[in-house]
Amino acid sequence: MIAGTRSINYLRISVTDRCNFRCRYCMPASPFAVIPHQEIARYEEILKITRLACEMGITKVRVTGGEPFVRKDIFSFLEQLCRMDALSDISITTNGALLSRDKMQKLLDMGIKRLNFSLDTLNPEKFAFITGRDRFDRVWDAIMAAHDLGMTPVKINTVVLRGINDNEIISIAELTRSYPFHIRFIEYMPMGDSPMEKQQQVLTNEIIQILESGLGTLSPLAHKANDGPAKKFQFKGAPGVVGFITPISSHFCSECNRLRLTSRGFLRPCLLNNYEKDILTPLRNGATDAQLKDIIHGALQHKPLFHTLGETRPRDIPISHMTSIGG
Ligand code: SAM
Ligand code: SF4
Repeated sequence: MIAGTRSINYLRISVTDRCNFRCRYCMPASPFAVIPHQEIARYEEILKITRLACEMGITKVRVTGGEPFVRKDIFSFLEQLCRMDALSDISITTNGALLSRDKMQKLLDMGIKRLNFSLDTLNPEKFAFITGRDRFDRVWDAIMAAHDLGMTPVKINTVVLRGINDNEIISIAELTRSYPFHIRFIEYMPMGDSPMEKQQQVLTNEIIQILESGLGTLSPLAHKANDGPAKKFQFKGAPGVVGFITPISSHFCSECNRLRLTSRGFLRPCLLNNYEKDILTPLRNGATDAQLKDIIHGALQHKPLFHTLGETRPRDIPISHMTSIGG
């Protein structure tokens, strides 16, 4: 699939807006309603849209949410996804709290070898403060089980929050000296009505300075096809990798190769731009495959070349939250 000069081969599917956590940078400040079940795309609908998108050039899928593992029958959905020959790469982003060793073995058996865990702190009390849940041990055990089972690479996403976890940047990055983990520091993105709207960001240059003054030189690694927007580095002799996702300090929009399908069945060409196109209603109303492909093609024509988050001019702050869009 082509959008402008970009070739789009990556579909990020949000299977639910529900979550067992309440991360303060992700959830809205005010009380919010979850999307009614009948408005959420059913598995067979998601699979149909994915199949059509594959016929148009999608080869990689990441399943996300909300928390994907809170959705009922997620394993049978994942099994069906794994049977799609056109997909060469399937991965999942999860908070890890519901993932036992057995469930991860099941994922491996069906061919899913890559998990991204979210972990913003190594301190259990701070974990409970950030996520609203006292589940640090469970998440840490899940990460260790993924490592023991040979999932590779085990990626860990860490959103850096000034005054909250910026004093742990070094200890989190140090994990890459003991384990082959890919730690990815993510710049906090202000999303709509957020309890952290006034949160000051910690941008990547500052994180790199902190890391190099504490742990030594970070050597850049060559960018590989599966790296996505992360800029990757390594400490000398470390088995793991430190990556940076820089939506604020350095737009990667012109290289972005992804399309999102939200849990409500809307195509969203950009996480940070509010344009969305409903594909679920036409599908439910009996649109033909050709008509659905036209909708996918049309949505891609709205893929922007830049976003305005983090700039001083009026900002295009997304009104939706990560839980409903799929981060
Ligand atoms: N529940 C799963 C999880 O936490 O990994 C998947 C969904 S979550 C929305 C996906 C990713 O988005 C997580 O790594 C989370 O840290 C990140 N995220 C959520 N809100 C964010 C924000 N405002 N800025 C930056 N990253 C954010
Ligand atoms: Fe849930 Fe993930 Fe958002 Fe945390 S970041 S509230 S775990 S969807």
